[in-house]
Amino acid sequence: MYTLAKLREKIKLKGGFVNSHAHFDRAYTATSIEFEEDTVNAHLFDKWEYVNQFKSTASEDKYYQHIYQAVKTQVNMGVVAGLSFIDCDQVSEDRALKAALRVREEWKNKFSLKIACQTLKGVLQPEAKRWFFDHAHQFDVIGGLPKKDLGQESEHIDTLLEVAKSNGQLVHVHVDQLNCDSEKETELLARRVMHHGMEGKVTAVHSISLAAHPKPYRDMVYQMSLDAGLSFVSCPTAWIDHRRSEKMSVTHNAITPIDEMVPLGLTVAIGSDNICDVYKPFSDGDMMTELRFLLEATHFYNVDDLVDIATVNGRKIIGL
Ligand SMILES: [Zn+2]
Repeated sequence: MYTLAKLREKIKLKGGFVNSHAHFDRAYTATSIEFEEDTVNAHLFDKWEYVNQFKSTASEDKYYQHIYQAVKTQVNMGVVAGLSFIDCDQVSEDRALKAALRVREEWKNKFSLKIACQTLKGVLQPEAKRWFFDHAHQFDVIGGLPKKDLGQESEHIDTLLEVAKSNGQLVHVHVDQLNCDSEKETELLARRVMHHGMEGKVTAVHSISLAAHPKPYRDMVYQMSLDAGLSFVSCPTAWIDHRRSEKMSVTHNAITPIDEMVPLGLTVAIGSDNICDVYKPFSDGDMMTELRFLLEATHFYNVDDLVDIATVNGRKIIGL
């Protein structure tokens, strides 16, 4: 019997929702007066710069309010744990990190908050590198965004893996976000994980572009991911809006191809990604909405697997 109520009940029985990927430090920034409406239509790369405007002026208390509100709203929606990327670079400095640590302590009895460094400035340029190396140990998880070191994606990933390896940390990396077959970042990540002997410790966030490749390539990357113990976080509403393109590719929805991954034994979890910010002003962080988008966009109706994706897989992937 398939009912939404039954699905919800099973998720509760397995401990409740886990939001495996979010950016709580900029949640609800779209509701503030500093937010200009035009910015929601900008390209992803321009939005990375718009975020700078908020970051450069936000005090630790301002960050605290945003992160606090995000966690409080998550708890009200039945989410019991989550991993939030937190900016820590020359623009935000360590104000968001300090705020996140305060919120984590305050909510520890109701919400297990794990934090990852966002590395929005990359990790290779001198100033960004300094911020990364000085603060990496304060995070639960090393986070990465290889596109921010364009042309040096491999070196970016190597830096993350080396630091995580020496600190005994997990690694979550934003890869293959642009839904096009010119991106091969999931493959690159799997290769570097095996090179560094970090099997089972690394998670690919998004991997949308994988779905744009022909089947032989997808199968090769799935096999490589199994060998690397690479797990995945899908953030369904974050990329389902991917814009129409005249470029020819395999027909697919702009979402992590979990319908192919899960039957092969790859571990998949879900995240909300952006909540009510410049990227997603109408996203409210409701994990049931994310799960429904995931199952509809991939035609994936295995209830037990969906429950695991929403709960225990998330716990494993974020290190609980
Ligand atoms: Zn993200």
